[in-house]
Amino acid sequence: MPAEIRLFRCLSDNYGVLLHDPDTGATAAIDAPEAAPIESALKATGWKLTDILVTHHHADHTDGIMELKNKYKCRVVAPAAEAAKIPGVDETVKEGDKAKVGNLVSNVIETPGHTLGHIAYWFHADKIAFVGDTLFSIGCGRVIEGTMDQMWSSLQKLRDLPDDTRVYVGHEYTLANIKFALTIEPSNAALKSRAAEAEKQIAGGHFTIPVTIGAEKKQNPFIRADVPEVAAGIGMAGKPANEVFAEIRTRKNKF
Ligand SMILES: [Zn+2]
Repeated sequence: MPAEIRLFRCLSDNYGVLLHDPDTGATAAIDAPEAAPIESALKATGWKLTDILVTHHHADHTDGIMELKNKYKCRVVAPAAEAAKIPGVDETVKEGDKAKVGNLVSNVIETPGHTLGHIAYWFHADKIAFVGDTLFSIGCGRVIEGTMDQMWSSLQKLRDLPDDTRVYVGHEYTLANIKFALTIEPSNAALKSRAAEAEKQIAGGHFTIPVTIGAEKKQNPFIRADVPEVAAGIGMAGKPANEVFAEIRTRKNKF
């Protein structure tokens, strides 16, 4: 049976997600920003927490781990390169490994840049990806520990996933990201229609995710750094994509 998802808000702008395997009853939290909203979601669904899949070591993704682990005895899976910075880790994974939630199987994709050991979990059979703070809806994470080149490569790995992949991101930043994206591509029609859609979603109290890889490819300037019109639009016609990406990311930092 297909995976089931429960999406909810944590802290000020984090997303919390539960992934449930109806065949085995296994349920994973993707990251654990804080325990209380995750427990409310478990209560609302009746699911029992068996796993926590961690994308990276930042506190707003890991602060809830120990409280949940103590209560539910769940298994904690984390990126090998950051395991020392994450509490309660039972199993470490790296590029090419599989991380399972019951019978649901994900491929681990290393996406360094935001942090050096950041990973994404791609559940290919269900066409779902959990990308933490690497890719956002119409945005991408800040390049904190890695290099701009690493982040650009990581984003390309995610961009290479099938177009109909549903992407769950770590934060609700969509409207601010769209405002910035329109300064890079003011005449991108797909982006403009996304802006109208996102405003409606937020006004209605709805989430703006999951997004699809196919839509992001048309609308997200950070993964469009190798589109000639994007480079030309910021005065960098003919420049290599990694430099165009770095310029867009630098502009966003100052926006
Ligand atoms: Zn982070």
